[in-house]
Amino acid sequence: MPELPEVETVKRGLQPVMEGRVIARADVHRPDLRWPFPTNMAERLSGRAVKMLRRRSKYILADLDNGETLIIHLGMSGRMQIDLADTAEFHQAAPILKKHDHVVLHMQDGTRIAFNDARRFGAMDLTDTASVERHWLIDKLGPEPLGNEFDETYLIGALKKKGSPIKTALLDQRIIAGLGNIYVCEVLFRTGISPKRKASNLSAARVASLVPAIREVLTEAIESGGSSLRDHRQTNGELGYFQHNFAVYDREGQPCTTGCGSKIFRVVQSGRSSFYCPKCQR
Ligand SMILES: [Zn+2]
Repeated sequence: MPELPEVETVKRGLQPVMEGRVIARADVHRPDLRWPFPTNMAERLSGRAVKMLRRRSKYILADLDNGETLIIHLGMSGRMQIDLADTAEFHQAAPILKKHDHVVLHMQDGTRIAFNDARRFGAMDLTDTASVERHWLIDKLGPEPLGNEFDETYLIGALKKKGSPIKTALLDQRIIAGLGNIYVCEVLFRTGISPKRKASNLSAARVASLVPAIREVLTEAIESGGSSLRDHRQTNGELGYFQHNFAVYDREGQPCTTGCGSKIFRVVQSGRSSFYCPKCQR
């Protein structure tokens, strides 16, 4: 499942080929992904200029010149495949439709952008740009962790009455938008907070320490996504998932990176694996 940094990386990869460019033609090869596509999606996209690409939580938003916004969600396995018009490969053989290329945007400059999604948990929808924050996928989301609304005062207030474990509370998209399992594990390790600790029992100072840690962990991942992006664009133009190195995530049984002598443990909370060091995280 891509998390916020991966979605931000995909958005940054799409910006140079979409922003300020015209979608000459959209091909839509099936009626739905996770949910049905909006009515006449191909017609509504064809001929439209993309004014701006934005991200809200794990959604990529493409504002079009007709007052509509295309909402793109990568789901579990969604990828964006970019084939530039000026690459050698393109001239040798125009890219053929690959299996699971469900929506293909043919840009006016010849670039081809395919939304490929083998498991079909992804989604695309069109909505009025003016009311995108009221769209049903977006209207219940909390503030962006890298935005101005998210700060120490906000988080202390939001967690004050949460009886759930801190791990579960931080995964609640109504509290913070876009934070997922991997980065919550990393944030809790970095702040020395046990994933099992009840959110409402944490001191204000410890809750406050989560805010810079969340920002750091996400920013570092976005930066590392940026370097993968350069590699990926040089290779096959596919935007989707990147390998990161994590301190605790998926490291069960391996030694803690602080050198404390303990191993990383795994516990299942709300159906998700939490990885933590019992010695460093209290
Ligand atoms: Zn440790």
